[in-house]
Amino acid sequence: MSLFEYSPAPESRTVVDIAESYDLFIGGQMVEPQDGTRFKTISPSTEEVLAEVAEAGERDVDAAVQAARVAYTRVWSRTSGRERGKYLFRIARLVQERARELAVLETLDNGKPIRETRDVDIPLVAAHFFYHAGWADKLGYAGLGANPRPLGVAAQIIPWNFPLLMLAWKVAPALAAGNTVVLKPAETTPLTALAFAEICQQADLPAGVVNIVTGAGETGRLLVEHPDVDKIAFTGSTEVGRLIAASVAGTAKKATLELGGKAANIVFDDAPIDQAVEGIVRGVFFNQGHVCCAGTRLLVQESVVDDVIDSLKNRLGTLRLGDPMDKNTDIGAINSAVQLRRIQQMSEVGEAEGATRWSPACTLPERGFWFAPTVFTDVAQTHRIAREEIFGPVLSVLTFRTPDEALAKANNTPYGLSAGVWTEKGSRILWMAQHLRAGVVWANTFNHFDPTSPFGGYKESGYGREGGRHGLAAYLVADETEVSA
Ligand code: NDP
Repeated sequence: MSLFEYSPAPESRTVVDIAESYDLFIGGQMVEPQDGTRFKTISPSTEEVLAEVAEAGERDVDAAVQAARVAYTRVWSRTSGRERGKYLFRIARLVQERARELAVLETLDNGKPIRETRDVDIPLVAAHFFYHAGWADKLGYAGLGANPRPLGVAAQIIPWNFPLLMLAWKVAPALAAGNTVVLKPAETTPLTALAFAEICQQADLPAGVVNIVTGAGETGRLLVEHPDVDKIAFTGSTEVGRLIAASVAGTAKKATLELGGKAANIVFDDAPIDQAVEGIVRGVFFNQGHVCCAGTRLLVQESVVDDVIDSLKNRLGTLRLGDPMDKNTDIGAINSAVQLRRIQQMSEVGEAEGATRWSPACTLPERGFWFAPTVFTDVAQTHRIAREEIFGPVLSVLTFRTPDEALAKANNTPYGLSAGVWTEKGSRILWMAQHLRAGVVWANTFNHFDPTSPFGGYKESGYGREGGRHGLAAYLVADETEVSA
């Protein structure tokens, strides 16, 4: 129940100019697709068509890879780290200057609340470019010898949950290390990547160092399978990750895959309940639950489960769902009709399997794609909602009695991307962190991101790391002459 009502505080749309139609960014220019196909991108909160976007076919992907190859051979691999760093600093500053516009554009195209794009996504985008700008002339300290070399042309494929942030995670380390890139944004969220193309032009980045090909899954497949690509960096579903792993097997291409997750968020009985509840909310309802590392399996020590659930329900009653452009909104729109259907279906499965479903009273807007925050209690480990990634605002609650049981349940998943631990005891945090099979373990917090910190998974959550020195190393190779010397 709300304590008091807020008046609407909508962010202005006038800071963005959305064109009717967008071409592909190849060789430093916006170029028409060679086969002329286009698709529409819509606002998930209103279903309004925002723009038409080019769909890159085989010849377009080939032109983009060629442009990246030429830029790599003739320009970027010969540009000093110090110079590359200057371009990255320039991009970071341009992102900051255009932050409000980028936040509005992201919110319109993705459906996530303006508060998140403005305070989380876009500041982190700038932070990634700043951080990697600093690395560009210090690659000799990345742990790969004094003169590590770039890999060449990187094909980068990103999902729709953090469109510009995922672009930054991919593009910034690649460029700092001296690679050139061809990036494919997700079909439902291409607009901020196209704004980034403009930023590359504004920064005078040499032509072909960054190329952006919009399209659907088929464009992604063409890019992955292109023979002149040296490295693939992918974030998305485990299913597509498997296809990519199969496609690169037996080739010289390197790959990093950042895939799904089903993270455990573990609350011990000595945890401060109010803080833990904030962390649970942040863990699974941030970005409508469209987060690969979301804490979707809440494991609560049995003795405090009633208190935790009561506090959680009270807190969820205060969340505001609705217009993502309103600065008061906590929960925005689901990114697409397809994703909404998947969330609905998985929630129906949860009920059919015997779990108890609960949502706070909230009115869903008539147009657009919406799903109320949902909590399932009485969940068993065998239930599909406890095992499969839902990628929506849906939490499954399980209980445990001892730390060993918590650990066994947390690790009982094919995934291994992240986990959270809530307890007052430092020794328990260290013990859990040591034994949890997860790439990131947050202690008394959740969903905190920083460019200096490596992020990535175990098992079906993929391989390779992004961020920090480890992420940078995924775009470099040691100089062989140095190694043999
Ligand atoms: P996908 O894995 O299909 O999409 C991720 C990216 O890969 C998109 O750019 C997509 O293009 C592209 N792509 C699709 N097929 C291929 C292919 N064969 N070869 C190369 N690239 C391809 O995820 P979805 O958007 O379909 O989401 C489905 C489920 O995946 C979600 O419900 C969620 O569970 C999970 N997911 C996980 C993410 C994560 O960060 N771990 C992110 C997104 C989804 P396009 O968008 O144009 O189809």
